[in-house]
Amino acid sequence: MNVGDITAGQMGFYACHVCNLLAKSEPGEHDAVCRRCGSPLHLRKPDSVARTWAFLIAAYILFVPANVMPIMHTSSLFGAQADTIMSGVIYLWMSGSWHLALVVFIASILVPSAKLLALTFLVVSVQRRSTWEPMQRTKLYRVVEFVGRWSMLDIFVVAILVALVHLQSLATIEAGFGAVAFGGVVVLTMLAAMEFDPRLIWDPKRVQHG
Ligand SMILES: [Zn+2]
Repeated sequence: MNVGDITAGQMGFYACHVCNLLAKSEPGEHDAVCRRCGSPLHLRKPDSVARTWAFLIAAYILFVPANVMPIMHTSSLFGAQADTIMSGVIYLWMSGSWHLALVVFIASILVPSAKLLALTFLVVSVQRRSTWEPMQRTKLYRVVEFVGRWSMLDIFVVAILVALVHLQSLATIEAGFGAVAFGGVVVLTMLAAMEFDPRLIWDPKRVQHG
């Protein structure tokens, strides 16, 4: 066993989840708190898998109305129209703005679905105590976390569309329930990613090596 295989946890140290201060655990100690900021200390985020699942399942449920219900209602001199995300993408594509259609498709359909699937894969693999490619799975988690910061891009697209149509004063446009559900999916996926503890990916590996 080389030095890289020994974790702080095995040495009886754990870091505060809030301020990262390192603490030494005393034998038989329960309900320890950080002596700098008073936060509860844990070796791993408590109930990480269960909480991640809770947010993921809620996100999957909202994913349905987000894609099926209209994200916006448009009315103009030429009649009223309700658009879902997909019908909006098709409309943009047909009307020649294929680059805008591509942006909306990637930001509103591809990225949110990929994030949900990636997190589901990670949490299932951790639950099964998989030892498969921990480095690749950690990288996957980092990508999901990084993309999370740009998640509001999706909401932004709807906001920009609303603003664009408002510029043409002959039409009115309103966000529909689909947009609310979509915002819910984005936020819930971010919360799921935050609750997931990526250190769990490496735990079965450590047990395997002894
Ligand atoms: Zn602290």
